[in-house]
Amino acid sequence: MKGYFDHNATTPLHHAARDAWLRASEKHWHNPSSLYRDAGMASQQLESARERLGTLIGADAERIVFTSGATESNNALFASLPADAVVLISAIEHPSVREAARGRNVVELPVNAAGLVEAEDLKRLITSKRPSLVSVMAANNESGALQPWSKLAAICREHGVWFHTDAAQWLGKLEASNLGVCDFITGSAHKFGGSKGCGFLVLPKEDSRLGFIRGGPQEQGRRAGTENYPAIEAMVAALEAITPTLNEIEDKQSKLRDGFITEMRARFESLRVISESAPRLWNTVLMVMPEHDNLKWLTRLSRRGFSISTGSACSTGKEGSSVVVTALGASVEELKRVVRISSGWETPAADWQALAAAFVEVFEELNRGGKPQ
Ligand code: PMP
Repeated sequence: MKGYFDHNATTPLHHAARDAWLRASEKHWHNPSSLYRDAGMASQQLESARERLGTLIGADAERIVFTSGATESNNALFASLPADAVVLISAIEHPSVREAARGRNVVELPVNAAGLVEAEDLKRLITSKRPSLVSVMAANNESGALQPWSKLAAICREHGVWFHTDAAQWLGKLEASNLGVCDFITGSAHKFGGSKGCGFLVLPKEDSRLGFIRGGPQEQGRRAGTENYPAIEAMVAALEAITPTLNEIEDKQSKLRDGFITEMRARFESLRVISESAPRLWNTVLMVMPEHDNLKWLTRLSRRGFSISTGSACSTGKEGSSVVVTALGASVEELKRVVRISSGWETPAADWQALAAAFVEVFEELNRGGKPQ
């Protein structure tokens, strides 16, 4: 995994998730909806995984619906709203929220210069627009900026408005036991050592509207299709394994990340780090390079064994694709110079240092106008 700095796109499988997946697949591969004893055991295991996840995120198990990932969860939520529903969504949401909200009456909730939603803006827009739902992600996938979701959820509660947070990037990086204060929560296993194609949506207790995927009665009729119990077990095992160590990881990795920024600044004076003044995920640096297109940086770093990103994997390939940098008023030219670095739980100091050194090497190569090595 040396040189892998794209953990916000996806993470390698955690060994606890792998072990749990194998155990679940070998022992409890039966269909949880079938009626014989072995199927009943699979169903019991599934419900126990739901309880354990509920404990980790501070939400009653009955509020949790398992899905195929964050994109499905976000789509399911918006599909459950009436066409004329007014929804407030922040200017920096992931495409799976922005696109899913299309067709509803969408009002954009602005962010300040640091990339954060402000409580005063939320109050003002709740009063003037009277939305039925507010959606603000917990941690931004591009900049890592941490939104004040618990404060925003409290404001929504006071005004009797549903609050949704897409916590795909928060989970597995920061303590999550208070997330349950949000009415709706989106999560995705592959962002924290689980497998791809598995996630969840938390709903308010009294909400039975969901029925985006229709068919059988699974998930209390809220999401049809045979549950992917082994992947669910793996997701919960990964989160259980990592949660007790998160404070220590944050402490260590944020120092390494800040050291990387300092080293980069020593060489690239005019380097701009997006949302630098905001509280951010310990693993993320979104930077506007002083020169050269991001794809040139990416391909040359890739040849040297480093995997980085030009922004969200969901919008790569689209010119000027950074939602966050656009929301902060950057020019099209600047957008082409954006790169994102996102480390993992165990990224060693040596990898961070080697990455900074590789940036310098690539810069010299690009300035020489030379062919890549
Ligand atoms: N929301 C956020 C904030 C994300 O970062 C991502 C992944 N880029 C998604 C949603 C989509 O997740 P999934 O791959 O599980 O559909």
